[in-house]
Amino acid sequence: YGPSYVRAIAPYVAGKPISEVAREFGLDEAHIVKLASNENPLGMPESAKAAMAQAAADLGRYPDANAFELKVALSEHYGVPADWITLGNGSNDILELAAHALVEKSQAIVYSQYSFAVYALATQGIGARAIVVPPKGTSSGAPAVKHGHDLDAMLKAIDADTRLMFVANPNNPTGTFIEGPALEAFLEKVPKSVAVVLDEAYTEYLAADKRYDSIAWTRRYPNLLVSRTFSKAFGLAGLRVGFAIAQPELIDLLNRLRQPFNVNTLAQAAAVAALNDRAFLEKSAALNAAGYRRLTEAFEKLDLEYVPSYGNFVLVRVGNDDGAGARVNLALLKQGVIVRPVGNYGLPQWLRVTIGLPEENEAFIAALEKALAA
Ligand code: PMP
Repeated sequence: YGPSYVRAIAPYVAGKPISEVAREFGLDEAHIVKLASNENPLGMPESAKAAMAQAAADLGRYPDANAFELKVALSEHYGVPADWITLGNGSNDILELAAHALVEKSQAIVYSQYSFAVYALATQGIGARAIVVPPKGTSSGAPAVKHGHDLDAMLKAIDADTRLMFVANPNNPTGTFIEGPALEAFLEKVPKSVAVVLDEAYTEYLAADKRYDSIAWTRRYPNLLVSRTFSKAFGLAGLRVGFAIAQPELIDLLNRLRQPFNVNTLAQAAAVAALNDRAFLEKSAALNAAGYRRLTEAFEKLDLEYVPSYGNFVLVRVGNDDGAGARVNLALLKQGVIVRPVGNYGLPQWLRVTIGLPEENEAFIAALEKALAA
């Protein structure tokens, strides 16, 4: 059954859930540490829990199909009119909507190798052609591994069929970052017939000196769609809320395909609260920065190569043979530590670890030391 381009899809591989690992390895759930899905180790903000509890009184009704309150909150927060915003069931939904709304089966989508897995899925899901551009940065190790977007090569890769590009900044799984001015120079050169989805799922983790105003760029570039999520720094991954900001012409196209109730009542209420909870965001970013220092210091001590990261995770090379990622991952699982193997990204010597609470980071480092010694 089904079209050949659907049969050709390799399904998305998510982080293993705690309950499954507990059962598989005969472990106590309470002792398992999950650093596999770039979630916020602080969990949900209390403000969002309270808003959700209040909204729970009204679940006999459908959600607000237009998410009026949430759009007003986003509109005030980001300084754009409400019709410049659309919502997704997580930002994955936004990425898929963009592919469906902006690209035909006979056309092409450009993205970087080692960028977020959903770009390939969204492209394959509509039967379009993927133009995958090799990355630019080179790692220090041997054999060297390339990582990070090559924007010049991505521009050169645009052909007559190209209608969309995906750019992740910071990128997952590499954690690499493109400076604002380089990104803006790139946007200046992209033909207006090609839409750019700028996926900024991790933008709230950027240090002050790395920030740039992509929302302001949407006023200048009618082909730019900025994608954001409540899943990472805002701490609402389980509720599934993402949003996009772009000029109304692009937003309107996405809205035509959007499921009317794609963001549920609880998620809408929690997102409004989380958006206004600056203290939680600041705490999340500070915890992340400290955890990053601790993990990378441990990697240096263990003489492990890693890619400097601007997100809430780090890509680390755990061996120089292609079995290394799977082997070390299994040894970590046996000790109750769940991280993310990235063999499906074409990085079989590496693992991606999410930055956790201090005690989670310590548990991971101790388990990693044992795994490498075995
Ligand atoms: N973009 C990037 C770069 C991501 O890493 C992720 C989460 N892994 C997403 C988008 C999607 O997240 P969500 O659907 O939870 O918003």
